[in-house]
Amino acid sequence: MRIDILTLFPEMFTSVLGSSILKRAADPALSADGQSPSVSYHLTDIRNYTTNKHQKVDRPSFGGGPGMVIQCQPVWDAVQAVTAMDPRPASRILMTPQGETLTQPLVEELATHPRLLIIAGHYEGIDERVIQRLAPMREISIGDYVLTGGELPAMVLIDAVARLRPGVLGHEESAHHDSFSPGAQRLLDHPHYTRPRVWEGMEVPEILLSGDHAKIEKWRREQSLERTRQRRPDLLK
Ligand code: SAM
Repeated sequence: MRIDILTLFPEMFTSVLGSSILKRAADPALSADGQSPSVSYHLTDIRNYTTNKHQKVDRPSFGGGPGMVIQCQPVWDAVQAVTAMDPRPASRILMTPQGETLTQPLVEELATHPRLLIIAGHYEGIDERVIQRLAPMREISIGDYVLTGGELPAMVLIDAVARLRPGVLGHEESAHHDSFSPGAQRLLDHPHYTRPRVWEGMEVPEILLSGDHAKIEKWRREQSLERTRQRRPDLLK
């Protein structure tokens, strides 16, 4: 999977994409088959595509009001140039608080695409006309709150997608049983415990030490259901 990110602040991605599992996902030497990375990241600075001699990409909002708006031209030209860099069809995504909310089923679907082209807005956002001209474009929000830019939302989306790509997580880290995932019946995950058996007087539930896998599985399902009932009853509807 190729992931293109169009942003005014590419430097924000360096540490996140260069660390931990996101780094491993893009590293052939660390991939499951030792050859083909599961994802490749391609950062593009939208500013490089402005025709403005002062490198400006934003202008005040027509109609007045505070804040600047990213202009159509640099965004359009950047998308055209980046799209042409690879023959695979790019699924366009705009990070915006006004989009559909990112959920695990949506992440699972995005993880099957050969190529994602993600646009991160900033300031008051992007001129509406270029958003319309770039249709079809999926508008995705990471939640009902407003951040200063689309960079952190893009990183959230990329992290959630990359960990579902083949070979990125080891077997023991399998994402299939995590909260909201099919293996957890889209409910919350059960609690987890590790050594020592007793910590600060608190014992690990006896059943987990029994070695009876059927009983452990039943206990985990019950815990998952109970947690969901208490914390997220909306998931049971
Ligand atoms: N004026 C916009 C509004 O009220 O809908 C908010 C603009 S926000 C300050 C700047 C940029 O941050 C947006 O263009 C978007 O790319 C990004 N952003 C902010 N919150 C977001 C969220 N919850 N999900 C996804 N992107 C978000």
